[in-house]
Amino acid sequence: MFMKNNNQHVQTIAVHGSIDTNENHNDVTQPIHLSTTFERKKDGSLNEYSYTRSGNPNRLMVENKIAAIEGAAMAVAFSSGLAAINAIFENVLAAGDDVILPDDCYHGTRSLMVKFFQKRNISFHQTDMTEIANIENLIKKETKLIWIETPSNPQLKIADITAIVSLAKKYNILTACDSTFATPLLQKPLELGVDFVMHSSTKFFSGHSDILGGIVCTNHQNEISNSIRDYQITAGAVPSPFDCWLLNRSLATFPLRFATQCSTAFAIAMLLDNNESIEKVFYPGLPSHKNHDIATQQMTNGFGSIISILIKGGKTEALNFASKLTIFKHATSLGGVESLVEHRRSVEGDHPISPDNLMRLSIGIEHLDDLKNDLLQAL
Ligand code: PLP
Repeated sequence: MFMKNNNQHVQTIAVHGSIDTNENHNDVTQPIHLSTTFERKKDGSLNEYSYTRSGNPNRLMVENKIAAIEGAAMAVAFSSGLAAINAIFENVLAAGDDVILPDDCYHGTRSLMVKFFQKRNISFHQTDMTEIANIENLIKKETKLIWIETPSNPQLKIADITAIVSLAKKYNILTACDSTFATPLLQKPLELGVDFVMHSSTKFFSGHSDILGGIVCTNHQNEISNSIRDYQITAGAVPSPFDCWLLNRSLATFPLRFATQCSTAFAIAMLLDNNESIEKVFYPGLPSHKNHDIATQQMTNGFGSIISILIKGGKTEALNFASKLTIFKHATSLGGVESLVEHRRSVEGDHPISPDNLMRLSIGIEHLDDLKNDLLQAL
């Protein structure tokens, strides 16, 4: 059973959480408000909306629904996950600051630092966050932010959020967590004291591989949270009304989709763990996972639907495996209803972190037996 929020279960919030229906036409679902501009009152003052970059009914509804699901005071929607990450970096960091990133974070997060923030005298260090001592060793007076990503992409490393938050508080450092793989159905970093939670809503929230989006959630109502809201409007990386409408619609089925994805992934991880063509399976639900105990405490309702595997051999064997799959498509991204497989190293640019034989699986909502058969025949 998923957690309750505001006395309602998340399944109910996901359907009814934030629907602004048109009183004139008695819509049951929210219409799309494509108008970029909104008429003023007769006295010249502004109505609730003025210009769609500053505010749009579809964006407001989806932000409110995600804030309710996450249990956050505020959710700010961006046009992609990376735009959401960038909004946190832009509003937290200043020249001279240092950031600690996981060694196995989404490669785009690191690229953002390397390509844009380093030029502005903002430095970063990466470490294996599965050991808290590694993080403490990197802390210096310039450290402004600890960026957590748990489970991490692609090696599904688990960082102990509570331990990191207590370390950060000791040194007066802010924390942010990319919670894309877990979603609020499995973990609530804000409840554990994290300052900012970020999601790529391109993934499980939207779930149909047809929109890009990113969300920043926080319980703060302070200078930084106000500045993130202002940045959304002023820098303008906002999602379109149609994307917000699709996201709001998709959220209604998110708890159903994700529950199936998690339970199917668990069964597949168990199956693959004993397969002779596989060297190693990375999945936090497996007792063999390094931080399975922390995952069990920190994550409720499941361990997610992403599994990484090392195929015995090298890149050739890994790509052969992908080419033999018929239901799984070899494509980037994750979290959709369709199962995907990806050779991660090929997309990690000039700083590859994945072994050459690593394949990442994103488990969709197809029948478990069909996915198992597809994997077994390809192996
Ligand atoms: N965070 C994680 C964990 C991701 O996997 C991704 C994309 O794959 C992102 C952030 C970036 O999200 P987007 O592609 O929506 O910009």
